[in-house]
Amino acid sequence: MNREVCETVNTTHNKQKIVVRGYLLVKDKNRDESFYWCCEQRDSRNCKGRAVTTLEGQIHILKKFSEHNHAPEASRVDVIQALNNIKELASQTHEKLSQIIHDTAIEMPEDSFYYMPNSQALRKQILHIWLRNLPSQPQNYKK
Ligand SMILES: [Zn+2]
Repeated sequence: MNREVCETVNTTHNKQKIVVRGYLLVKDKNRDESFYWCCEQRDSRNCKGRAVTTLEGQIHILKKFSEHNHAPEASRVDVIQALNNIKELASQTHEKLSQIIHDTAIEMPEDSFYYMPNSQALRKQILHIWLRNLPSQPQNYKK
């Protein structure tokens, strides 16, 4: 069987999510190295799509996948990945924000780009990351 690697995304709400075959799933629970995920649309669409992955080092390998009652939402996944990318870049460099946003935007499919938050909202998020990464930041502030 092919090893199917799944990409995880960290959302602003600190809830771990994972992308499996174009679907976005939210972490339900984990037991040791086994992670159980359920569809992000579980409540809104009553979707029973689920996935099980095994964590090997830093990567999630897909073990089980159950069908969803709706189509994958590529645009949403693109947006979340792009936001992740922007945040990661932002935490590594103090390049100009507009440059970071621009670089990410040109790598995105055009259709998906329309779903991105506006650049003002993005700037806020990035500034937040920078502030959090300042060495003088007191450690008792934890989200
Ligand atoms: Zn689903």
